[in-house]
Amino acid sequence: MLVCPRRNAMRCVTIAFAATLGLLPTSPDRDNTPDINFPVNAKRQFDSLLAAMPKKLYIETVGCQMNMLDSEMVVAILRKKGYELTDDVQAADTILFNTCSVREHAEEKTYSALGRLREHKKKHPEKVIGVLGCMAQKDQHSIFSRAPYVDIVVGPGQLQQIPDLIEQSRSTGKQLTALSMGRKDGPLEQIKRSHETFDPLRDPTMRPTPFQAYLRIQIGCDKFCTYCIVPMTRGPEQGRAPSEILAEAKVLAGQGCKEITLVGQTVNSYRYEAGDTTTRLTDLLYMLHAVDGIERLKFITNYPKDMTDDLLAAVRDLPKCSTYLHVPAQSGSNDVLKRMKRGYTVEDYRDMMRRIKETIPDAAVSSDFIVGFCGETDEEFQLTADLLTECRFKNSFVFKYSERPGTKASEHLPDDVPHEVKQWRNNELLRLQAIISEEDNQLFLGRTVNVLVEGPSKMAIKKTPDAEVLQLTGRTMCDRIVVFEGTRRQVGQTLPITIYEITPYTLIGTVLTEHRVGTLLGIGS
Ligand code: SAM
Ligand code: SF4
Repeated sequence: MLVCPRRNAMRCVTIAFAATLGLLPTSPDRDNTPDINFPVNAKRQFDSLLAAMPKKLYIETVGCQMNMLDSEMVVAILRKKGYELTDDVQAADTILFNTCSVREHAEEKTYSALGRLREHKKKHPEKVIGVLGCMAQKDQHSIFSRAPYVDIVVGPGQLQQIPDLIEQSRSTGKQLTALSMGRKDGPLEQIKRSHETFDPLRDPTMRPTPFQAYLRIQIGCDKFCTYCIVPMTRGPEQGRAPSEILAEAKVLAGQGCKEITLVGQTVNSYRYEAGDTTTRLTDLLYMLHAVDGIERLKFITNYPKDMTDDLLAAVRDLPKCSTYLHVPAQSGSNDVLKRMKRGYTVEDYRDMMRRIKETIPDAAVSSDFIVGFCGETDEEFQLTADLLTECRFKNSFVFKYSERPGTKASEHLPDDVPHEVKQWRNNELLRLQAIISEEDNQLFLGRTVNVLVEGPSKMAIKKTPDAEVLQLTGRTMCDRIVVFEGTRRQVGQTLPITIYEITPYTLIGTVLTEHRVGTLLGIGS
């Protein structure tokens, strides 16, 4: 009879543990064959004790806010099943990687992390290793060929199945998958259902801070930009019911959350239809603005074509709305935008920027750019550099084009810009952006801004983790990062900070004390 080595190993652990609990005779010459003489009562007691024993979960997440949220959900479901989180991969019974496939680099990172587990899994066959998220949906069964010791592969639309899959895989030793349907695999409604991931169950301890949370309002994407894998991995665009969004916002506020960031791939395309009523992002902002306890509302990522005037007016009129708008332009060349199938022209983008500035003069806008997209010439790249300079973004995320199998670009357009050229263009955009960001940050010198304090800065965590007074970091209403000296008691508070120094990406300030506020008010009156 073939015996699964993992089952055998699990059984050995089981016996040793039962013996230490005095549930089994501990004779030194007992062969490890518990099935034969295992007393029924002892086995029952042992099973319940084993079930009560905390299992250890290690989870690593790469990619966007969607993935962070998905990991929160996975942790929450597994905590309910008795799992405890560990940051020590060696100590874990279950090791999960929540993956991203937007660029090849992100996938390679996951495969190298898996590679490092090869030997560990040989020694501990009872451990369950899982690959979740977009790479799981995209690569599906081929993950098992590249990393044969992976046990479960779960797409982002099937995460609720994880606890069962782990248990099944552990007990049968089988490799298991749970995947959503492909975009052409059946009727739209069926495909949509196979991608649904909404679940109000969340784990507050997984959030970046207790007073900040992402709230998913939309899944999937129907824009099909030619370079992008997301419509395939995350499925059709679907808006979440406003009642569920409101309920989750209230729960978050009840847990002490002050800042909610609504997330969706094209968040401003959000629509939810019920009977004759259509709810859009503007309506959601008004609804959520009324939730007590919430101080700040943000939303990412916006699609340029869907930046409507009523949405901009809502951001202007609702004091809790952050004046930060992330609206990726991707390129400054109409020909490139056409090859990317972005659905707008540079003129449309400029018009949107004009409307933003007219409606919300202090808005901070940021963008994403892809450099070295198929056939991008020096002239086309120069148009992108010009647009970046003209729009004076708060910051820009710059990506070197990475061909993604399964996208239209990979099928029809050659990835023909050499790597060194992509790298140079990448550096050049970052250089231009740094100049603009530094110049614009200069305008904050001497000004006092309201900062939601997030916690110790990276530098403080590294250098002075135990100090009483340490460097703290937080963000302004327009998403600018501010660092200042403070105490841990100030974490989670919204404080007035006066800026005395700047870098391209950081404002450096001091807390405006009540005494100084009084003095300043006195001077001003
Ligand atoms: N939905 C958002 C939008 O339309 O702007 C962005 C979502 S995408 C996951 C985040 C960013 O990754 C994109 O804005 C784009 O700049 C970049 N990206 C997507 N596919 C890429 C690819 N194949 N190569 C390089 N960058 C890519
Ligand atoms: Fe990808 Fe385009 Fe959809 Fe953004 S809008 S997720 S870039 S397909």
